[in-house]
Amino acid sequence: MTQYDVIVVGAGHAGCEAAAAAARRGARVALVTLRHDDPGTLSCNPAVGGIGKGHLVTEIEALGGIMGRVTDAARLQSRLLNRSKGPAVHGPRAQVDRKLYRSAMGSALAEYPTLVIVPAAVQGLRHGQGRVVGVDTSVGPLHAPSVVLTTGTFLGGMMHIGHHRQAGGRVGAEASDLSSNLRALGLPVSRLKTGTPARLDGRSIDWAALEWQYGDADDPRFSRPVAAHQQRPSLPCAITRTNTETHRIIRDHLGESALYGGHIDSVGPRYCPSIEDKVVRFGDRDGHQVFLEPEGYDDITVYPNGLSTSLPLAIQEKFIATIKGLEHVRILRAGYAIEYDHVDPRALTLGLGAKDIPGLFLAGQINGTTGYEEAAAQGLVAGANAAAAALGLQELQIDRAQAYIGVMIDDLVTHGVAEPYRMFTSRAEYRLRLRADNADQRLTPLGVALGLVGSEHAETFKAEHVQREDARALLDGLSASPHQLAAHGLAVRQDGQVRSLFEWLRFPAVTHEAARRVWPELQSVQDALLEQLAVDANYAAYISRQEAEVAALRRDDSLSLPSDLDFSGVAGLSHEMVERLARARPGTIGAAGRVPGITPAALVALLPYAKRKAA
Ligand code: FAD
Repeated sequence: MTQYDVIVVGAGHAGCEAAAAAARRGARVALVTLRHDDPGTLSCNPAVGGIGKGHLVTEIEALGGIMGRVTDAARLQSRLLNRSKGPAVHGPRAQVDRKLYRSAMGSALAEYPTLVIVPAAVQGLRHGQGRVVGVDTSVGPLHAPSVVLTTGTFLGGMMHIGHHRQAGGRVGAEASDLSSNLRALGLPVSRLKTGTPARLDGRSIDWAALEWQYGDADDPRFSRPVAAHQQRPSLPCAITRTNTETHRIIRDHLGESALYGGHIDSVGPRYCPSIEDKVVRFGDRDGHQVFLEPEGYDDITVYPNGLSTSLPLAIQEKFIATIKGLEHVRILRAGYAIEYDHVDPRALTLGLGAKDIPGLFLAGQINGTTGYEEAAAQGLVAGANAAAAALGLQELQIDRAQAYIGVMIDDLVTHGVAEPYRMFTSRAEYRLRLRADNADQRLTPLGVALGLVGSEHAETFKAEHVQREDARALLDGLSASPHQLAAHGLAVRQDGQVRSLFEWLRFPAVTHEAARRVWPELQSVQDALLEQLAVDANYAAYISRQEAEVAALRRDDSLSLPSDLDFSGVAGLSHEMVERLARARPGTIGAAGRVPGITPAALVALLPYAKRKAA
């Protein structure tokens, strides 16, 4: 069969999530990718989640996606980063076994009966009557009304180690030549870069000399308890540091680095800098931390997180040998940098469809982002909307107040990217509401309504929701007199007033045990739930203020602007405003407000057009 509802090009993190989301909505999906074993390949670090990125994974999970459960199935150790800080910025992260991750992704995709994997190279998009109608591949044409492109670092990929250059999408894989096709369709294409460290032979590391870092004892997980979690021992990683001698060698050879020797002039990820970048930018530091992360239970390979480089192999060997524990290390594979083409995401709608090419959707690194989680989150949205376009279903749009996914997509389509975009909690203005621990409450009802969340998951969510609301009602009804509290060793407020348990939970000194001594009714409420309710209580005042802001935002900001609006015909817009708006073509009043340089007066001028559309 060559006729599908949705064709997804590329089975990286964006592609797998896109294909799965489209299949969950009932689409017949062809996942076309260069190699049959592409699904679940981690091109760089063997870890998923982290600060900001972990939020994205919990949101993918809340929408029925697969990244969280695949990560849990493959995890070597998991931690909650930022645990000592406020819950809004807690970042769940897991180190994973590369091979297990790939096989778990394969199993997750195999669960969709309408999804087939087609190992082939896509050579071009087929279009007719002003829209995309399929793709040409190395095994013949495939037809579908929706196509999702998720080609990662493969578009015009060029790898660099020192002065050596080689075309390729990542080590061991050829590059992809679709860029000219995309340019011909009018999509703006430019170039970015990223890099990866050498891989080390774990048997040649002096582990005894190093400090260990273990996973958290409570072993945090991303996925709901729908599928039983597999029990495996948690594996530690080790920590070491670069030193002044390491830096001296790197500085002496900067001219030989592909990044600094003038061979690459595209922009790299500021927040995943190469070791050359760190030595140049933070010249006053006498060392940088390096995490030695094992790549698997039965794998000798170790990933030195923090040592991304494009220096020649001989120099990599030299500087790595100066690091404690790595004095006699054997390099299994050299680190390298890669340059690739990406599409300016301002050419996309909030649903990740190409504004001018009906039927075409883009997700992942091709949109100028970096990271598995950013890619997967976009993939879910693009896949869900590709299915919507093909089957006439409701579009999935997530706004900034609902989820980090909404923040990311709004940032991308409104501002574009000047450097590879990665997620941070600081990007979200409503971050007290957008916590990793409440992603299901924010998104699962939407996922259920759009057919993205399966029935078992939906049932679990419903049961948990009832449990939570019961517990909340119980807590709301509990109070204690100062006398009762004092009798249990709890401090009494100076005003001596009777306070509700909800309020008492806001004080860190009131432990679950103490609260249960005062209110034995709480024995039936699980620790995790009590913790979540305590967080809600703690943030209650801020959250209600944010709720009011969100309501105002939704009132006006979500008003759509006509897609064919001629800004030059809008009364009251200056020439500059017309130019800026015409370039960005925002889909909503909110998006217009975030276009750099757009004034409040210009927004007022646009409002009647949005309201007219809504009327
Ligand atoms: P990818 O995972 O790259 O998947 C692309 C898929 O498309 C592949 O399956 C490929 O086979 C397929 N494909 C491409 N072209 C075609 C075609 N024409 N026909 C059929 N299939 C095609 N991220 C970080 O967060 N930090 C880092 O430090 C970092 N360093 C990196 C270093 C290197 C060297 C590389 C290669 C990547 C690095 N990344 C890093 C990026 C990370 O790998 C990506 O962000 C992530 O994999 C993007 O997911 P994706 O789904 O968009 O694309």
